[in-house]
Amino acid sequence: MINLKSKLPLVGDTIFSEMSTLAQQLNAINLGQGFPDYQPDTELLNAVCQAIQQGPNQYAPMIGVPALRQAIRDKTIAHQGHAYDPDADITVTSGATEALTSSILALVQAGDEVILIDPSYDLYAPVVTLAGGLTVRVAMNPPTADTPRFSLDWDAIAHAVTPKTRLLMLNFPHNPSGLTLREEDLDALEHIAAHHDFLILSDEAYEHIVFDGNPHVSPVSRPALASRCILVSSFAKTFHATGWKIGYCCAPSSISQEVRKVHQFTVYSVSTPMQTGIASYLKQTQAIHGLSAFYQRKRDRLVQGLKASRLQPLHSEGTFFLLVDTRALGQGPEKDLAIRLTREAGVATIPVSAFYADPAAPAANHQLLRLCFAKQDATLDDAIEKLANL
Ligand code: PMP
Ligand code: GLN
Repeated sequence: MINLKSKLPLVGDTIFSEMSTLAQQLNAINLGQGFPDYQPDTELLNAVCQAIQQGPNQYAPMIGVPALRQAIRDKTIAHQGHAYDPDADITVTSGATEALTSSILALVQAGDEVILIDPSYDLYAPVVTLAGGLTVRVAMNPPTADTPRFSLDWDAIAHAVTPKTRLLMLNFPHNPSGLTLREEDLDALEHIAAHHDFLILSDEAYEHIVFDGNPHVSPVSRPALASRCILVSSFAKTFHATGWKIGYCCAPSSISQEVRKVHQFTVYSVSTPMQTGIASYLKQTQAIHGLSAFYQRKRDRLVQGLKASRLQPLHSEGTFFLLVDTRALGQGPEKDLAIRLTREAGVATIPVSAFYADPAAPAANHQLLRLCFAKQDATLDDAIEKLANL
């Protein structure tokens, strides 16, 4: 008998895999795991096909194809207001997932503290554990009757910072709440950072999906924060291509150098023709500009449709997720309800409790489910009808 000692004994399949599998088994509409049920732009598909046919199809440079790093530089100047050096600061990775994991493994030492703001994306805590770090969880203020939205508690975040704090994880637009940052948030963050020397890992996977005419606010737009920030993003959500797994991270060269050491020995380099194809598409496309409006229409369609149901939508400021309050359906663990809805209504969702350290704890259960609206209008309409019949 082999004596296996798990490094992550408490980790099982993610809630996203679990709910997708259940949706498939029950032939339910999958508004759970976040992925579109439509194709990327034909021009992008053509650009990638052409890159495969024309080559090169051999190893890309370890840090990424030059044309793509240049395109990421240009995009980040336009969108985040910060200029990175494509050679020293930008690394193309296997999705945001690898960018986050390589960054945490490279930067967090045994015993370092990493602050997570709950609800937080499921990847962060296990990777901090793998790095030997300790997670320090700070909860957002949950929605109340008076304020039906999550909100950041900067006092609590400031209190959580200690001399051992190595990293603060940020993720805005926020999965699952749809919350976006405001300039006042950056003021608060700058104030805290002025007195401490932690790094900031800013997961901006949904950077191009922000609603109601608001801008995307990123910590790297402030020079004092950019100098300690690792900006992570991905083309998965921006180009409707979650299966391609092309992402990137941008950071000052001394930080990038360390992240690249991990990237080099976990992935080495990322699919060459995908990078070439995305780079040439990025040069010609205006598609990113229309993305927020595209998703805002879907958000509004879902919100409007759910008025006929007993689910109460919260406001979503960005991402392709909408939270719904389920109290009209009774109390209980969110996960039980998500499973029940998949079975009884034929619609799979994600319990928000899965984004907390202990999903079973009462403090993690606010009677909220996350619905993904990156779906064709017909899929959304079908789901709305099923949910209205509850
Ligand atoms: N961060 C967040 C907040 C996400 O929601 C996701 C996936 N949807 C990722 C990172 C991972 O991105 P990728 O698929 O590019 O690895
Ligand atoms: N980020 C996606 C979500 O939140 C899931 C990605 C995954 O399944 N790992 O739904």
